[in-house]
Amino acid sequence: MTETLEKTRFASEDFSPGALQVVERLQTHGYEAYVVGGAIRDLLLGNRPKDFDVATDATPEQIKQCFRNARIIGRRFQIVHVRAGREIIEVTTFRRGHEANPSGQAAQASQSGRLLRDNVYGTLKEDAKRRDLTINSLYYDTSTHQLIDHLGGCADVAERIIRIIGDPADRYREDPVRMLRVLRFGARLQFELAADTAAAIATHGHLLRDIPPARLFDEWLKLFMNGYSAPTFSLLQQFGLITHLMGEGVTDALDRQHANSLRMLALSNTDQRVADERPVTPAFLLAALYWPATEQTARQISDRGESPIPAMHAAGQQIVAAACQYLAIPKRFSLAMRDIWDLQPRLERMQPKKVKDLLAHRWFRAAFDLRLLREETHDLDNQCSQFWAAAQKQHPELVGSARQRRDDSARRRPRPRRRPRNA
Ligand code: ATP
Ligand code: MG
Repeated sequence: MTETLEKTRFASEDFSPGALQVVERLQTHGYEAYVVGGAIRDLLLGNRPKDFDVATDATPEQIKQCFRNARIIGRRFQIVHVRAGREIIEVTTFRRGHEANPSGQAAQASQSGRLLRDNVYGTLKEDAKRRDLTINSLYYDTSTHQLIDHLGGCADVAERIIRIIGDPADRYREDPVRMLRVLRFGARLQFELAADTAAAIATHGHLLRDIPPARLFDEWLKLFMNGYSAPTFSLLQQFGLITHLMGEGVTDALDRQHANSLRMLALSNTDQRVADERPVTPAFLLAALYWPATEQTARQISDRGESPIPAMHAAGQQIVAAACQYLAIPKRFSLAMRDIWDLQPRLERMQPKKVKDLLAHRWFRAAFDLRLLREETHDLDNQCSQFWAAAQKQHPELVGSARQRRDDSARRRPRPRRRPRNA
């Protein structure tokens, strides 16, 4: 069934100049080229796409030859980044699923069926089938204004349904991260999950353990920093994926009910900040999500005779080490998490001699915010937060003044390549 929906016609202004240029250039060189995936889904929903991906029958080498500013990236899945002005357009070559590959050469699967490499090229129709969701499998030719929908994606957008393409269990085995994507889009778009798409998640969550922690952390950022972290977290809990993603540290707590309200409040505060376009750092959210486990561990350590500050320090080290078994949390974030935790017992002391030092601490604001969450959700009295609110009023110039570097996101360095642990 090739469904070409002549009716759906987007304006050229709906696309970025870069996307239009890339499609046109590839077509001028005799290749097929379409804007694909999330951008078309978002346009159908009346939303402005955040970026544009292009799919083509040109190979990565051929794509590269069409542009002056193009770079082939990735190994597991080769794509080409084309720079057009300030934009980067991701261009991918049509691929087919590995089961359709008779030679079995370039697509490699692990024992559990996970795809390790996926560079077998194919036609548009084959490319459509190897994508994750029907709603992400729509192609738009910006020159002829034809929308190509082989798998019922338009109907699913209209009915607001997240549906995995093909057999969900097979597709999750091929790439367990698709389970996270299903829940992410479910939460972000507020779509229903198709019954079989949802059912297979409950039985395949453990496969996330095969995913290298570096890739899981990248997914974590997409799940939690996109402005929909609270509904996403609830779905991850509901489907039992949260411990496979973040480890036991995110469910451990003596007092489950209070711990959950602290986590939900941290998540919804973060979503509100994203909505208000205020800066957010993964370090604060990670510190809040793992806080109940850290607090519990610190208490156990101090019950053995350690004083509160070193106990918190030791607990922080332990919880970060456990979390990093799952998520490759970059050092700059894990050090910040530990600072935010270390500051908790120090804030509680309210020592006048230490006020200026603590106010100037790079993570003072984040630590203060965690203290506020704790007071709000754990029925603590607010003497401590009032003390620090007054101190900030008195010395506003000091707050965070030891911060030498602006923000973490601004300093992103490419992560050195690491071999997947189980590959
Ligand atoms: P977003 O708005 O978050 O960018 P998106 O749908 O564009 O959403 P991307 O992660 O940018 O998502 O991926 C681009 C496209 O690549 C998707 O629309 C989907 O068709 C395909 N894709 C991405 N990840 C997978 C995967 N794990 N398995 C199969 N297809 C995938
Ligand atoms: Mg995208």
